Amino acid sequence: MHLRGIQHEINGHMRQILSLRQIFWIGLALFLQCALEAKVHVVQKGENLSLIAAKYHVSRTAIIKANNLTNPNLLRVGKRLTIPEKGTSQITYVVKKGDSLGLIAQRHRTTTSALIALNNIKDPSLIKVGQKLKIQTGKATSGKNRETLLLSSSVRSALNKISVKGGKWKGIVIHHSATTVGSAKALDNFHRNQRRMQNGLAYHFVIGNGKGMGDGEVHIGNRWKKQLDGGHLKKEEWNKIYIGICLIGNFQEQRPSSKQMNALEGLSRHLMRRCGLSSSKVTTHRIQHKNHTVCPGKNFSISTLKSRLN
Ligand SMILES: [Zn+2]
Repeated sequence: MHLRGIQHEINGHMRQILSLRQIFWIGLALFLQCALEAKVHVVQKGENLSLIAAKYHVSRTAIIKANNLTNPNLLRVGKRLTIPEKGTSQITYVVKKGDSLGLIAQRHRTTTSALIALNNIKDPSLIKVGQKLKIQTGKATSGKNRETLLLSSSVRSALNKISVKGGKWKGIVIHHSATTVGSAKALDNFHRNQRRMQNGLAYHFVIGNGKGMGDGEVHIGNRWKKQLDGGHLKKEEWNKIYIGICLIGNFQEQRPSSKQMNALEGLSRHLMRRCGLSSSKVTTHRIQHKNHTVCPGKNFSISTLKSRLN
């Protein structure tokens, strides 16, 4: 109400010099807008306030205050909690022996890609002992911000239009196509005609590598649009609960491109948010089905992805 009132006031008095009183209210409005920017958590079965606070790296007290909780020990499953944002702060870190960007990011609750961007790092595998890194913690790493940054607006709006079946999806399994060239269309053909899958494309999503499909392009499959079981795992009970993402490429031979990894982080964040999953629920085909496959190949690093998702 206040914000709207002030907006009218500003519009109506464009030519008038702002009084101190007006400046005060505008300042307060801007401050509130920043201070109130927050995310929402839906309470899951088995969760308590301490677990939720730990998940978002905020204090229990901050959550209690933000939600006016009178009895913090009684949390109803499905209750929507406002999670207050922590403030942003930037520090300088000196690289120590044994450090990697992933480890540093993990320890400071930021992401590898945020470090790369902030420090103009050309080769993430080459950081030197004694090198100074700028690290931004807090608000800059908020998941929603990263999702917005990493996915195109058309993909985000298409994803947001899909109504996700509540409680159906318990995890995300990552695959590679094991081919250097490929596309969602080619995979759909293969699954429909060779594998005789009635619903075609076995994955919910495909991320291109620039050969057959755009580099980092996200294809949203029909199985996700219609919230159908996947066809990407051997056991049917797994296909009912795991979302399948396939990256085009053969990661036994090559690495996923940085655009693919950015898209994968953005997409995983979106899916984690929509399905209420933590990064511990993001896995690979090889980890999910032990001794069955090398998919998504030895050059795909799930730990790098997880450190980016934390
Ligand atoms: Zn696979």
